[in-house]
Amino acid sequence: MEKSIDQIYQEALKAIETAAGPKDVRSASVRYLGRKGILTQFLRNISSLPVEERPTAGQKGNEIKKKLEKAFNEALVKSEASTKDLEDHIDVSLPGRPVSCGSLHPITQINQEICDIFLNMGFEIAEGPEVELDYYNFEALNFPKNHPARDMQDTFFISDKIVLRTHTSPLQIRTMEKQAPPVRIIMPGKVFRCDSDLTHTPMFHQVEGLLVDENVSFGDLKGTLTAFVHQMFDVQTSLRFRPSFFPFTEPSAEVDILCVICRGKGCRVCSQTGWLEILGSGMVHPALYENVGYDAIRYTGFAFGMGVERIAMLKYGIDDIRKFFENDMRFLSQF
Ligand SMILES: [Zn+2]
Repeated sequence: MEKSIDQIYQEALKAIETAAGPKDVRSASVRYLGRKGILTQFLRNISSLPVEERPTAGQKGNEIKKKLEKAFNEALVKSEASTKDLEDHIDVSLPGRPVSCGSLHPITQINQEICDIFLNMGFEIAEGPEVELDYYNFEALNFPKNHPARDMQDTFFISDKIVLRTHTSPLQIRTMEKQAPPVRIIMPGKVFRCDSDLTHTPMFHQVEGLLVDENVSFGDLKGTLTAFVHQMFDVQTSLRFRPSFFPFTEPSAEVDILCVICRGKGCRVCSQTGWLEILGSGMVHPALYENVGYDAIRYTGFAFGMGVERIAMLKYGIDDIRKFFENDMRFLSQF
């Protein structure tokens, strides 16, 4: 009799041990502890035993029943947990989840690259307001009252005396007003012009430079810009200086580089000329020194300015400036 209940107990434990999942555990539990289960039947049969054996058999039977109930419950919790684990976390057939990294906008990258080149030459960064007084944007930079750049076509006017700056040149005046020579600054920032087509946007980025000291010559300007172009593009890049006009420099020159696409043979990008215009420059006009109180006999200097978008377009071979501002991930992720 006692051997028999021990056998039932051992078999039930084995069934728990070999169960492959919660379903097996549940059916084994029913098989032993259910209404018609093996152990239940056994306990019912105790009443048919001789009277003196009933208490011992009953006590032992109930102990085993409690042990098995506990064992089945624990086995069920454990196997359910491990199945859930598998379902939730360890589906090895799932493809991996890609983690995408952000990156700097191409305009930011080129802007930093330009600034780094001049910072390495000893220039310092100067920054100022985007909403600017007419005085700093035009007047102090020697723009006569009737200059075409003052036309409504180009300039966003806030009022008669306040504009959105059309270049970062106002910082030349703002810096020279505060600081005695030598001055060696670059001025990166947003500028605004009422213009929009394939190569123009109402807002774009500029980096200007200004150097004022004793004995600064046009040769220093050429040397500085040549060093810049060779670092920005490559050392093989030829450049040429073309006479031009800006109100705040005299003499003035526009700088072209040999076309980066066709290397001078002539192509669509360079309009078959073999050259690409990249910046404007010149020797600081003496009128500016008078406006800021510098000695125009003792000091000379040069200034230059370039559009960051234009440099980026030439460097990456992009033909539409608006691509920079459409925030299309397929375009931006190339940089
Ligand atoms: Zn070309």
